[in-house]
Amino acid sequence: MHQRYKQFLVFFILILLLLLVGFEVVSSSFKEHDPLEVHFLNIGQGDATLVQYLGSYQILIDGGPNGKKLLSELSKVMPATDRTIEIVIMTHPDKDHFGGLISVMKTYSVKMILCNGQEADTAIFQQYKKVVKDQEIKEYTFGEGSEISIGKVLELRSFNPDTTVSSKSDRNEHSVVVRMDYGENSFLFTGDADSKTEDDMLKDQEDVDVDWLKIGHHGSKHSTTDNFIKKVTPEQAIISCGKSNRYGHPHEDVLERLRSHNAEVLRTDTIGTISVKCPSSRNRCLVERADKGR
Ligand SMILES: [Zn+2]
Repeated sequence: MHQRYKQFLVFFILILLLLLVGFEVVSSSFKEHDPLEVHFLNIGQGDATLVQYLGSYQILIDGGPNGKKLLSELSKVMPATDRTIEIVIMTHPDKDHFGGLISVMKTYSVKMILCNGQEADTAIFQQYKKVVKDQEIKEYTFGEGSEISIGKVLELRSFNPDTTVSSKSDRNEHSVVVRMDYGENSFLFTGDADSKTEDDMLKDQEDVDVDWLKIGHHGSKHSTTDNFIKKVTPEQAIISCGKSNRYGHPHEDVLERLRSHNAEVLRTDTIGTISVKCPSSRNRCLVERADKGR
């Protein structure tokens, strides 16, 4: 009898655990999603930004250095049942931007990659290329002037690289730079663009007024010039970098420049993943939460 009671208790606990796990899965897959969400993921020293449209269409801009970290961050913001990432934009073939994409391509079905057309002579880049080939993922160069519209109100346009320049040029200079517009809201993702690229990009641009600027090259002092901030006029400046990183990113000069132009600085190294939510194309996007120490 006593043995029976024990068996019953184990069975009961098992059922309870299954119910709890089931509830967790269901609640995360039915989580309310705003029409547009932009998550600057806390992946350490590197860049990885997930744009999620209508809760199911994902555009992942870069993948940080590390697959494990990236997959863990993606699972926190994507519905658990969604195993597809529609677009990956790989700004340039440096490990802190594509390293994590190797695991992403093995875990999710990636529909296409937009890139700068460069190759890197590194073992990890060869590994990346092999996975692209094995998974039969289509790659397209997304150079200056390229555009994509998703639905009626989400638009992506590339400012860089100039594809008439040799793709063997400096990798940071050759970063894909994307402007994204969602109704009244605008974002600029600059990869690791440096001051030279900033100057070149703005030469022929009249109005680049954006609300949200992903700061170039993790806040390095060689990016984000006074002139660039003056023309881009960001209200919020996002810096993606690792805690106490060995490069000293972000540089104090960059922070000072942003302060002098009244841009609000948000940093992944101090506040973790930064989630920007846009309730509609007519409303302003807002930071939903920036959990400390996540
Ligand atoms: Zn970088």
